[in-house]
Amino acid sequence: MFDPQEIKRDFPILTKQVHGKPLIYLDNGASSQKPQAVLDAIVEYYTRHYANVHRGVHQLSDESTGVWENSKKIIADFFGAQTEELIMVRNTTEALNGIAYGWGSHNLKAGDVILTTVMEHHSNFVTWQELAKSTGAELKVVAVDAQGRIDLKKMESLLSTKVKLIALGFVSNVTGTVNPIKKIVEMSRKVHARVVVDAAQAAPHLKINFASSGVDFMAISGHKMLGPMGAGVLLVKKQLLELEEMKPWLFGGGMINDVTIAKATYHQTLSERFTAGTPDVASAVGLAAACQYLSRIGMDEVEQHDRNLVAYTLEQLATVPEVSVIGPTLPLQPNQELDRVGSVAFIYNGVHAHDVAQVLDSEGIAVRSGHHCTQPLHDACGWQATIRISFQVYNTIQDIDVLINALSKVKKVFNV
Ligand code: PMP
Repeated sequence: MFDPQEIKRDFPILTKQVHGKPLIYLDNGASSQKPQAVLDAIVEYYTRHYANVHRGVHQLSDESTGVWENSKKIIADFFGAQTEELIMVRNTTEALNGIAYGWGSHNLKAGDVILTTVMEHHSNFVTWQELAKSTGAELKVVAVDAQGRIDLKKMESLLSTKVKLIALGFVSNVTGTVNPIKKIVEMSRKVHARVVVDAAQAAPHLKINFASSGVDFMAISGHKMLGPMGAGVLLVKKQLLELEEMKPWLFGGGMINDVTIAKATYHQTLSERFTAGTPDVASAVGLAAACQYLSRIGMDEVEQHDRNLVAYTLEQLATVPEVSVIGPTLPLQPNQELDRVGSVAFIYNGVHAHDVAQVLDSEGIAVRSGHHCTQPLHDACGWQATIRISFQVYNTIQDIDVLINALSKVKKVFNV
């Protein structure tokens, strides 16, 4: 197992002091910090290889194109996808909207059903609400149980040949629940529905293999997995691109093959067809460096480290009487692993989540408070706002100890 204290030294920002205290960064679900290797890769690109891609015959344009293509290959390999299945976008939200415009608007009609769950991030919810509105399809929403798990029986009962799309998260950004994607893909096959997986909170903690997952579309944000902002990943099964079931939704330079006054034909390379205009090469370079950094640690080790932090946090929070943890705390079967990674959210009884976060901030601890862009989940479960701690490779057991200690200050300040 790697030493997270050593890993911490790779992240320059983690030496910062906040309110005179060493920074403890536990807001990784919102965005992670960047290792020096990622920062260096971006500087190196701008310092030594920068020019626009694909359009020039000069040396620098050629170098820049090489860097762009190589970065995409590294990213696609990391997620077990073919380079042609990778479309670089800005973030998960843009990837999901791309599916709605590029696939949904061409393949859905009145009477069809889009199936999603109440635990989704707004990006994976409002997108489908809007798509339902514009196509006349109906959005059906599966509930979760008291432990924050999808009601699979309910999902199964809603399946019919009318269901054309199932959209769900791999890992909840609030409860940390790991959804049974394999099972849901099997269910989808029975009715020939396409499956969209929002892997924003899975990619930082679990090894992703797009090819073996069987899902049709996957959306990922590079900035939550040590990469830069602006590097998002949309993976689309190659057949959907080859058969033009998924079509471009942005048009212009770069994505075309031939243009006349009468019409345009699109780029022969599948993923290039979806890259209209100048791409964000530097972000792709940074994300490729992040993938290499994570690969050097090993995603199995990353997952184990995360699971240890989750287990320790649950154990420690159980000793604070004012805290109620939300999400799975017991495995489905006694000897199974807990189906939870990445984050632990809780309510501090008697104190608003924002107040708790403010006290923690005064101790140098960064956490998130609020509804975490999951209002339907918060409404369904009757939570006004929750506090979320979320992890990365540089977090340590000592970070959790400092957090637990700081929670006693909340008790003092608010006299609960
Ligand atoms: N889905 C999930 C599960 C998320 O956690 C987030 C980010 N909080 C998003 C989607 C949206 O990510 P982005 O803002 O990078 O598009």
